[in-house]
Amino acid sequence: MTVQLLNYAFDRWTPGEGKLAELQSAIDGAPVATTGSGGIDFGEMLKHARDVGGPALRKLTFHERARVLKALGQAIMARKEELYELNYLTGATRKDGWIDIEGGAGTLFSFSSKGRRELPDAHVLMDGAVEPLSKSGSFVGQHIYTPLQGAAVHINAFNFPVWGMLEKLAPTFLAGVPAIVKPASSTAYLTEAAVRIMTDSGVLPTGALQLIVGGVGDLFDHLTGQDVVSFTGSASTALKLRTHPTVMRESVRFIAEQDSLNASVLGPDAAPSTPEFDLFVREVAIEMTVKAGQKCTAIRRAMAPAAYLDAVQQALAEKLASTKVGDPRSADTRMGALVSLSQRDDVRQKIAELEAAGARIVAGNPSADSAVAGGAFLPPVLLRTDDPWSTVAVHDVEPFGPVSTIMPYRDLDDAIALANRGKGSLALSLFTHSADAARDFIGGAAAYHGRMLVIDRTNSKESTGHGSPLPVLVHGGPGRAGGGEEMGGIRGVKHYMQRTAIQSSPTMIAAITGQYVPGAPKHLIDVHPFRRTMSELEIGDTWKTESRTVSIADIEHFAEFTGDKFYAHMDEEAAKASPIFEGRVAHGYLILSFAAGLFVDPDPGPVLANTGLENLRFLIPLYPGDSMRVELSVRSKSLKSEETGVVRWAVEVFNQKDELVATYDLLTENVP
Ligand code: NDP
Repeated sequence: MTVQLLNYAFDRWTPGEGKLAELQSAIDGAPVATTGSGGIDFGEMLKHARDVGGPALRKLTFHERARVLKALGQAIMARKEELYELNYLTGATRKDGWIDIEGGAGTLFSFSSKGRRELPDAHVLMDGAVEPLSKSGSFVGQHIYTPLQGAAVHINAFNFPVWGMLEKLAPTFLAGVPAIVKPASSTAYLTEAAVRIMTDSGVLPTGALQLIVGGVGDLFDHLTGQDVVSFTGSASTALKLRTHPTVMRESVRFIAEQDSLNASVLGPDAAPSTPEFDLFVREVAIEMTVKAGQKCTAIRRAMAPAAYLDAVQQALAEKLASTKVGDPRSADTRMGALVSLSQRDDVRQKIAELEAAGARIVAGNPSADSAVAGGAFLPPVLLRTDDPWSTVAVHDVEPFGPVSTIMPYRDLDDAIALANRGKGSLALSLFTHSADAARDFIGGAAAYHGRMLVIDRTNSKESTGHGSPLPVLVHGGPGRAGGGEEMGGIRGVKHYMQRTAIQSSPTMIAAITGQYVPGAPKHLIDVHPFRRTMSELEIGDTWKTESRTVSIADIEHFAEFTGDKFYAHMDEEAAKASPIFEGRVAHGYLILSFAAGLFVDPDPGPVLANTGLENLRFLIPLYPGDSMRVELSVRSKSLKSEETGVVRWAVEVFNQKDELVATYDLLTENVP
């Protein structure tokens, strides 16, 4: 008896009704599970996400949501072996599964950490600085981000059943938006198991996550402009979904990441026997065989200077011949199976199309017997074209399996044009030790590619590889790759939030954002803020210092002590003659140093270290005999870990006429 996969709707596990699809093991075709989503009210699922999940998530601050992500990642890691067992059934080796399962948990950890470091412990994210809109400063503009109030519908591909879900869920939850996940049917049993682990963990807010194991029925008819669809899969499905009448009528945000013909380029300097040549061959072979080439970022087109193409072919063919294809559970297997027999049929068909267009197979036999009877095995297949401009199919047809085509280029401009002929890709790698070649290539090709690696002998050891999307970097690409962007650290979070321009007084802006902005009322405190832990500090708490006079002796002493004898501080005549000063002025660094002397409370306490200054501006000069005083205000707070956090202070230095002399943000590391 095979198990029936369940949907997770309205915070309950629910079997689909009616006809169920049967899912088979990629290894031998044995039945694994049945699945279906008949009888589920998809409109109500969206409503549950909007009415229950959204409010529950929005009640939490960015930091609280970041902690949920961390707990979900820990739950996955604690039960990862259950997922590894199911991973084999998709045809993937344990190493492939590591990318999917532990890579997925790692993505949750990465977004959790980014969220706590880079987002405020608040509900609103400020975008950029206050824009002055009036003479006296009573009317200003500030851009803010708030979470969308709809649901994120995630439609995922079959190839990464765990990571593919988590790389979308991490930024979505961090933004404060609930999600409905629809995995590809063929590997939905692995996604379902991962969702069970997350719901069992008890950390998910009610309504935050729902799962559909089967078709999505009329779900798209119920979408609104507050919802987001994030899709990974084929270009044809993406086109169908993005042109759905409701998506178009309601301006539903649509993020697509679809098949792309990614390229890798051997630099003009990288002759056989250079380190870059060997690195290129190694990377192409890896990308063809990891996950049996079923990776959106895999190298489909490998380009080399015409003179080196034979050497590339020989080296690659040798490498691929040593790749042991077989049961992914065996320790000596290097490459497992494709996900299904129909996927293998599709890859064979695409290889035939490439051959018909003029490419020829130079390694591997696509008709070879399956390594295990009934399984979807296919050895790596290398094709070659010597005329890549007339064999157009190599730039248009994507065999989504262990298949790549090598091709020659004439010069760097030709290589750029060939790379861009893919009409937009997710990832490109260039193997060169020439900085000139790298600059010219990237300048000519970056507009067509979402992520680009320049690999040489100095960085290869630590390179994360051509095919690895990273949580902190953008994943997505223009044109054929779908035109969307995912992840990219906090950039990815903003896809699930609305940016709004707020125009009002600084007081209102501070109240709306829960963060201090210049011009907002200050809350004067009488206990020094360096004696308070972060939790005791309130946004807008302000410490006013005594004032001190800056004498000519101070300026001369500072110049002698530091060696900074710039004319403006030391030469009265020259300073007077300048268009800026009326005479000698205090050093900017002296003002900063005296400011610290005025506001610092010296004893050990909750402020651990000064970690930097940002946005420093010297607005008017400070002349000998002028005095200066400081106002130090808490602008924002964010946690780095359980042990430390960062306080951003607005520092304003005034002269005796209360004119602003200098302003900057001071960052300190504090005890939470
Ligand atoms: P599909 O585009 O058919 O499927 C992708 C996802 O869309 C699956 O979850 C699928 O569900 C779902 N889907 C399909 N039709 C609809 C619909 N009408 N409404 C809502 N959801 C829908 O891609 P495949 O997985 O079949 O792969 C086909 C090709 O796509 C591959 O050979 C490869 O070229 C490319 N691909 C690219 C990937 C990438 O990462 N860029 C990843 C995977 C594939 P269901 O499985 O239930 O049909």
